[in-house]
Amino acid sequence: MTLDEYILRRCKTYVAALEKLASAKVDEKNVQALSVLVGHLRSLYRLRRSAFTPDLIVKIKKFSEPGSNPIELEPLDARLEGVSGSFQVSKYYISQYGVFKIIAVEPFPQIEPKVYPKCNTLYFANYMLEEHNRILNERTREFESANAFAANFVFPDVSAEAEISDLTEKYHLMIEENHREFLRKHGKPYLGTQPTSKRLRVTHCYSCKTVLSNDLYKECLVCGWIICSCGACGCGYASGRLTST
Ligand SMILES: [Zn+2]
Ligand SMILES: [Zn+2]
Repeated sequence: MTLDEYILRRCKTYVAALEKLASAKVDEKNVQALSVLVGHLRSLYRLRRSAFTPDLIVKIKKFSEPGSNPIELEPLDARLEGVSGSFQVSKYYISQYGVFKIIAVEPFPQIEPKVYPKCNTLYFANYMLEEHNRILNERTREFESANAFAANFVFPDVSAEAEISDLTEKYHLMIEENHREFLRKHGKPYLGTQPTSKRLRVTHCYSCKTVLSNDLYKECLVCGWIICSCGACGCGYASGRLTST
């Protein structure tokens, strides 16, 4: 995993929050939460463009306004009770195939668009009612969950600069931990790492195939190889080959 991918993971959690906030009811807190979050994401983007994937940028643009990700997209009438006769002509209902409109109820519910086979059994009417109520309940639950999320949303309490440097530090600690673990597995001692100072070298990790360059990664003090984020260095190369063949 590169540092960009590591930072991207954090940005993705922010965008997931954005998506949920954009589904919640529009109130003062929600409006503020969205603008703080979008502002924070913009600052992160200015500092680290390379960590933002195109699809993430599309989502940020799409969900940056309150109410921009509404759960109820279709016209819907309220929850229905009873069996046949509960459908009303000219009203909209929902099924797993989309929204339909009742155009006649006699001699059986007729709908537009015609997604159900013509059928005049009670089961047919029951089925549509059940579907309608089930999907309506699902939407209601989703909406309530988005509202609860918005109500409990905690604003990011860190500047973009501080967050990037914190993530960079955590990333290097993660690599160091992976490297220690890697050496433990291969029965080699850990002697520490060194920042690379020689001419630029670009290679790839034999273990996970990540592209490595010595301007971004440190070297192992024992073998002098660049340490990959998966923890691998030259200390495990020979034994890795022996165990994998
Ligand atoms: Zn690797
Ligand atoms: Zn090594």
